[in-house]
Amino acid sequence: MAHLPEKPIIRPPSEWRSLLVRITRGCRWNRCRFCGIYPALGEPEFSVRPIDDIKADIDTLSAMHPCPETAFFGDADPLTGGIDLFSEAARHLWQALPGLRRLTCYARASTLWKTGREGIARLAHEGLNRVHMGLESGSATVLNFHRKGQSPEMVQAVTEWLSSSGIETSFYVLLGLGGSDNWEEHIRGTAAVINATAPDFVRIRRLWLYTQKDAGQESPLWKMVREGKFHPQSPEGTVREMELLVELLESSPTFLICDHANNFINVSGRLDENRKEMLTEIREFLALPQQVKNEHYRATGSRI
Ligand code: SF4
Repeated sequence: MAHLPEKPIIRPPSEWRSLLVRITRGCRWNRCRFCGIYPALGEPEFSVRPIDDIKADIDTLSAMHPCPETAFFGDADPLTGGIDLFSEAARHLWQALPGLRRLTCYARASTLWKTGREGIARLAHEGLNRVHMGLESGSATVLNFHRKGQSPEMVQAVTEWLSSSGIETSFYVLLGLGGSDNWEEHIRGTAAVINATAPDFVRIRRLWLYTQKDAGQESPLWKMVREGKFHPQSPEGTVREMELLVELLESSPTFLICDHANNFINVSGRLDENRKEMLTEIREFLALPQQVKNEHYRATGSRI
C-alpha cells in the first residue's frame, strides 16, 4: 500500500495552502483550562514521531505537491520533540523543496523560552521563519487561572529573540478569556504585551469550548462554569473587549486580523494605517439596534 503521510490535527487558517508535516502528535502540555482541543479531536496523548517517518512523509508530500510556497510543522508544539529533531526535519524539507518561501510552526512561549536565544537563532538558520504563538492573554492573572504555563514577561522575551533572529511572530488572542469578571484586566494586559512586542500578526479568536458531543471529552473550563467559578463574557461584552483592545493598541506595523468564523466582528488592518477605521467599524456595529445585534450573535453561535 502507498505510504500515507500523517496530518497535523489542526493548523492555523493562514496555513491553508501549506504543506502540512506532522513532527509530534497532540500537545505535551495539554493543561490549559480553556482548551482540550487535541483530546476532543481524538489525540489525547502526546508522542514524538521518529525522524525516519517524518522524512518519509516529507518525501511523499513533496512528490505529491512539488511546488508549495509554504510549509507548516505540527502538532501543537513540535519543538518539544527536541531542537535536533526539528532541525533535521527542516533540513530535509528545504533539501526536498528548495523553492519554499516560508516554514512555520506552532510554539508555546515556555518551549521557546527553554530553547533559548541561541536555539532560536539556530532554528532561523535551519529555515524556520514564522512562529504561531498562543498569547491568549497578556494578563498574568488570566494566564495563571487558565494554567497557560507562561507569563507576559516570558512572551516578551521570546518574541524579542524571534524577532532578532529574523523569525516572524503571529500571536493568537482569545476574547472572553477573562470572563465577565476579569475582562478589562485581560484586555489591558493583552494590549500592553502587544504594544511592547509589536508582533508581525495578531489574530483574534473568541473563547469556544469543546463539549462531550465533539469526541467524548469536554474542555476543562466547562466544570468551572457549572461550579460558578468562571462567569462567561456576554456576546456584547466580547465586542466591547475588541473595542477596548483596538483603542489601546499603539501605532506599529503589526497586522491585526479576525481570521476565525467564531468572531462576532471581523476587522483587519495594520495598526499604523487602519486602526481608526477598525475602531469606527466596531463602534458602528455597537450602535446598531440591540435586536439586530442579538440576531447577529445568535447567527454566529457560541459554545460558552
Ligand atoms: S492551548 Fe495550546 S498549549 Fe494549551 S493545551 Fe491547548 S494546544 Fe496545548
